[in-house]
Amino acid sequence: MALLADGVSRLLIDGKLTSGGAGRFATINPATEEVLGEAANADAADMDRAIAAARRAFDETDWSTNTELRVRCVRQLRDAMLEHVEELRELTIADVGAPRMLTAGAQLEGPINDLSFAADTAENYEWTQDLGLASPMGIPTRRSVVREAVGVVGAITPWNFPHQINLAKLGPALAAGNTVVLKPAPDTPWVAAVLSELIAQNTDIPPGVVNIVTSTDHALGAMLAKDPRVDLVSFTGSTATGRSVMADAAATIKKVFLELGGKSAFLVLDDADLSAACSVAGFSVCLHAGQGCAITTRLVVPRARYDEAVAIAAATMGSIKPGDPSKPGTICGPVISARQRDRVQGYLDLAIAEGGTFACGGGRPADQPAGFFIEPTVIAGLTNDARVAREEIFGPVLTVIPHDGDDDAVRIANDSPYGLSGTVYGADAERAAGVAARLRAGTVNVNGGVWYSADMPFGGYKQSGNGREMGVAGFEEYLETKAIATAAN
Ligand code: NAD
Repeated sequence: MALLADGVSRLLIDGKLTSGGAGRFATINPATEEVLGEAANADAADMDRAIAAARRAFDETDWSTNTELRVRCVRQLRDAMLEHVEELRELTIADVGAPRMLTAGAQLEGPINDLSFAADTAENYEWTQDLGLASPMGIPTRRSVVREAVGVVGAITPWNFPHQINLAKLGPALAAGNTVVLKPAPDTPWVAAVLSELIAQNTDIPPGVVNIVTSTDHALGAMLAKDPRVDLVSFTGSTATGRSVMADAAATIKKVFLELGGKSAFLVLDDADLSAACSVAGFSVCLHAGQGCAITTRLVVPRARYDEAVAIAAATMGSIKPGDPSKPGTICGPVISARQRDRVQGYLDLAIAEGGTFACGGGRPADQPAGFFIEPTVIAGLTNDARVAREEIFGPVLTVIPHDGDDDAVRIANDSPYGLSGTVYGADAERAAGVAARLRAGTVNVNGGVWYSADMPFGGYKQSGNGREMGVAGFEEYLETKAIATAAN
């Protein structure tokens, strides 16, 4: 059966697809500004029921202890998504504005396939570790360490890579034995709502184990962070909201897992192929219109070759025309909303006010009368102190900054409140690796290596977050540790 067949998505609460207490809201195609359809708009009572259902499913069913059931269910969800993958592709392009080419990777197929890693990890995990016999304080004791699910997980997600982020939370949280309430971003409700249908209709996931609550009301996210029935809140979004989630969670001392913003640096060392490095930097900032938290948005280049570097980046980015994400060749689609477009434009205006210049771009493309498009833009003439070099813009915007050698390049990269990612390019691989080792960031790419993979942990230092998503470390975020000591008389 077709997904979202009547053009209206529903909530998933306690195993049932239901309408929302606050009616419905429209979901918009950001490339055309057309209304795609409607999503159920949950109210606080819906969220309360969702949390109660997740609590009951955790406390009163064998979900948390039945690993075989969980592994089967996570694989069923993967298979159901793969069966509908072409439908999901079109829906993702329309709901997210994601370029078609990215749906072969992180915008769709990557995260679906990564569910296998979560299931395999649970299947092979050493849930109980025997520490053997010892006599602490003279008392013979057999000791073991047991890992078990944390409990009810509140998952709060943004709109930029919604499948990736929804599934990188749901997969490991479920495989580890938790129950989940997912509150997705209101900008991309359908990407989450299709999971509701697939879970209800194609999996054996018991009622209450997964609840998906779409809403325009951000306060429902805050409810998850505050509610004592929720044991862990897993949040991806802006640093400002992450701070608020952490503060809200403090009252109940719940575990808080945060994936936040970034302002990552791309360091070009003086022995690097400048042309190749600056082209890659320019290209990568245009992907999905720069709406990736780990994109390297500061290009840090040798001072002696600054003008050349700016020209290369501008030649690359100036040649990438923002356009229809449904076309196979499109790299740079729209940003998600008028609000986001205006926010990016505000930063472009700020760049000029701060004394910068545009080597290409600088505004809205004249040939795109509809849709939330921004021209790929290179900002030159500023240092790392400029606000456009320090704050996350979340658009196709690159700021080029000069450095005076490796130490200075490392200093600039680390002179940021963020620490999510980084890139180093240099001809001497050992020297480049040495520079990479000095970056205070959670993921680092040296000469084009790819860190995005199901078995690689992803996350940030400093104000880019707490904890890791994906990899075994990402699975273990959703586990508690219990030490059991049994007298061995
Ligand atoms: P956002 O912080 O505004 O919203 C994210 C989610 O939080 C949404 O579901 C929203 O409804 C919810 N929310 C809003 N206020 C809340 C509150 N007070 N309490 C609880 N939940 C609340 O972010 P956004 O605009 O949706 O996404 C863009 C931001 O996310 C960018 O800053 C980007 O860097 C960041 N991001 C980070 C990562 C990462 O992995 N580090 C990934 C994607 C996006």
